[in-house]
Amino acid sequence: MHSSAFGATAAIAPEADILKSVQGGLYINGSWKESAGQKRFAVHDPSTEAELMQIADASVSDALAALESASNAQPVWAARPPRERGEILRTAFEMLIAQADEFATLIALEMGKSVRDAHGEVAYAAEFLRWFSEETVRIHGRYQLAPNGKLQHIIAKKAVGPCLLITPWNFPLAMITRKVGPAVAAGCTMLLKPAQLTPLTASRFVSLMHNAGLPAGVLNFLPAVKSSEIVNALMADSRLKKVSFTGSTRVGKLILKNASANVLRTSMELGGNAPFIVFEDADLDAAVDGAMQAKLRNIGQACTAANRFYIHETIVDDFTDRLRQKFSALRLGRAVSDPDIIGPLISASARKDVHGMVLDAVDRRARLITGGELQEGPGYFYPPTILSDVPDEARVMREEIFGPVAPIQSFVEEDEVLKRANSSEYGLASYVYTRDLDRTLRIRAKLEAGMLGVNAGVISDPVAPFGGVKHSGLGREGGFEGIEEYLSTQYTAINSRQ
Ligand code: NAD
Repeated sequence: MHSSAFGATAAIAPEADILKSVQGGLYINGSWKESAGQKRFAVHDPSTEAELMQIADASVSDALAALESASNAQPVWAARPPRERGEILRTAFEMLIAQADEFATLIALEMGKSVRDAHGEVAYAAEFLRWFSEETVRIHGRYQLAPNGKLQHIIAKKAVGPCLLITPWNFPLAMITRKVGPAVAAGCTMLLKPAQLTPLTASRFVSLMHNAGLPAGVLNFLPAVKSSEIVNALMADSRLKKVSFTGSTRVGKLILKNASANVLRTSMELGGNAPFIVFEDADLDAAVDGAMQAKLRNIGQACTAANRFYIHETIVDDFTDRLRQKFSALRLGRAVSDPDIIGPLISASARKDVHGMVLDAVDRRARLITGGELQEGPGYFYPPTILSDVPDEARVMREEIFGPVAPIQSFVEEDEVLKRANSSEYGLASYVYTRDLDRTLRIRAKLEAGMLGVNAGVISDPVAPFGGVKHSGLGREGGFEGIEEYLSTQYTAINSRQ
């Protein structure tokens, strides 16, 4: 047993038993079924490249059948007492905690992160269910008298309606509960389209929601290879009322464009390019520990991952050397049963992209401090890598890296580093290490980012609003704000004769 960053333990469950527990079908209107064309696709272990199992591949007709069921279930579901919806979420929370070992093993198997990181994800994912089980009974409207004293206003919140939830592979469970939790709490029915690379955890979670008592039609499950076909067909159908997407900025923009035809409500959790700024007065040990977490959690494949390191010129050599020692001590390998190991990237193409960015930086005269060599297969491993003296034009500074690569630059003045930190189209997470309170408050006001960690390398918390500005997205998940994404406001003006 090992403690994780989220305080969870790192026990594992037998792999073969876990896979047998996964339903390989689609889940539509409360039952599991094969796809209309009996098609299936394979899911692989990124550590070995071996096939784990096959899962049904939804077609457009399956997707439309799922929408029909979500649309039929919507009015009855929205009318269920909030306490009952909350209790389903509370039961799901308790079941997920009881099955933490099985879920963590499944996540580690299909996604490659260490079983310790996977346990952290399960704990984080479960908290969304608990938080929104509590929020279910706190959906408030308001009453007011019009200024002229004649009309009385009732302002009420209503469930938006059937929602399409599209999730990425890097957090195969938590990115789902972060949407399903508030959608259930608000009284929305759902169509879940998981990432094609990690549908097994999603499938087991859908079974869990079924066993927790979610009625037929409320949650439908559509794993698919041709995502765009089923997503476009669903978004073109006026019975769908909302799309909540977590994934890349590129695909998010396509979905936003398509959402305009039916003026769909949208929530967008997109890419990031987080700056990690360390000032000369910072606690250097804390900054290096924070950098390890912010860079290497999830093998660098997090939208909140520190992407650009800006270190004050008086401490940059010391910081780089300490980080190098920690990076060089890490072991790479299959992390399903070993919590202290760094797992693979998700795919061959992900590894090619990351390596291409490292080569681009070296071509532009960045110094390679550690890492940077392609590994022998099988498995899509890439070593933790540090680059220093990286020029602004290098791709690693401008693009989301999504791998264990830390590019470092030095800076002198606060204004100069703020300008560089803000010179990105993204604005999701950001990190600052300093002990100066006035500086912290100045930076908080000027940084263009949805989230800021001060002397903290992990900031995600289900009770806080997660989300970005600029090309990092629209809307917030978690916190009091999370449920608002699934509610619409209706105002009634009453002219009553008294
Ligand atoms: P992706 O955009 O490739 O895919 C995300 C989802 O969209 C998947 O389910 C995929 O099957 C589907 N999809 C892909 N193409 C589509 C299309 N044309 N039409 C409709 N659906 C389509 O992203 P990914 O590689 O799975 O995830 C990594 C990205 O997600 C990174 O950019 C990361 O920063 C981002 N992310 C953001 C957050 C956040 O909260 N802001 C959290 C996690 C990941």
